[in-house]
Amino acid sequence: MKIAALAGGVGGAKLAQGLARCHPAEKLTIIVNTGDDFEHFGLKICPDLDTVCYTLAGMENPSTGWGLRDETWNALQAVTSIGGPDWFGIGDKDLGTHLERTRRLRAGETLSGITREFCNFWSVEPLVIPMSDDAVPTVVITESNELDFQDYFVRQKCEPQVKGFKFSGSHRSKPAPGVLENIDGADIVIVCPSNPWVSIDPILALPGVRSALGGKPVIAISPIIGGKAVKGPAAKMFSELGIKASPLAVAEHYGSRQGGGLLSGFVMDDVDAALKAKIENLGLLVLVTDTLMRGSEDRIRLARQVIAFGETTIRREVS
Ligand code: GDP
Repeated sequence: MKIAALAGGVGGAKLAQGLARCHPAEKLTIIVNTGDDFEHFGLKICPDLDTVCYTLAGMENPSTGWGLRDETWNALQAVTSIGGPDWFGIGDKDLGTHLERTRRLRAGETLSGITREFCNFWSVEPLVIPMSDDAVPTVVITESNELDFQDYFVRQKCEPQVKGFKFSGSHRSKPAPGVLENIDGADIVIVCPSNPWVSIDPILALPGVRSALGGKPVIAISPIIGGKAVKGPAAKMFSELGIKASPLAVAEHYGSRQGGGLLSGFVMDDVDAALKAKIENLGLLVLVTDTLMRGSEDRIRLARQVIAFGETTIRREVS
């Protein structure tokens, strides 16, 4: 079975690692959000892409959810000692990634090509593709103004109330080479338990992605468990947009194939089992299980369950 997975950072990376450990690498493609990419110190930084690659390489920092393990912070300390900004944490080893990526981009290489080469060096076997080689920065619309994503997310710690999001220029940009081809070639598409608003929607906003998904069984895993996000502002975003955060809200956000939306199947946590019937009523096949990925065993177990559920979903679509 060929799988294409859509992923943001932390939640996406955890499931991607589980999938990579239980599915043949040549049958797995991870398509990663780049709407949160930005420039800092003149360097191109790709937080979600790096989180996914570092996690697949087993080099991630488990306590922060971003950056590399066993980091040192000499460069950033040197910067701040001469008055430079410290709001975005870049460790010394992580800095190496940003330096080399920026150098290659300036020399004319593409982000997708660079990512493929870095993954070779890091022994990451599944194909990891940034959603686009073009810059498609996510803009957060708040009560008072519009914010660059990292300004909202890191500098202002997600404190401003959100009113909506803009995926600036996504209609003018293209999916990276391999994105549409790997969706077309997949037997199933898995929407990882990532933030629907700012990790998955930017991928869906790219020209051609929704129509490529239209012909595929697509299953999503809820990033909301018991009304809360495991990490990050997903639940806060739902409630600030006037929607009660729950797996039902996530399923309604993506929509069921039957109702003109994206999904054929949906995976939600045991603690939310009471919502199962309502989600089935949207026209979705539903798997209720433990979706909290605490360690690597959980990631593999959930990935196996999602793949088996995917097979059931495919059979239903065919019959
Ligand atoms: P970000 O760009 O780093 O915020 O990355 P993502 O969008 O991929 O991840 C954030 C989302 O992942 C949040 O909404 C979390 O609730 C979700 N998430 C993180 N860990 C888990 C987990 O173990 N299980 C589930 N179901 N969701 C998770």
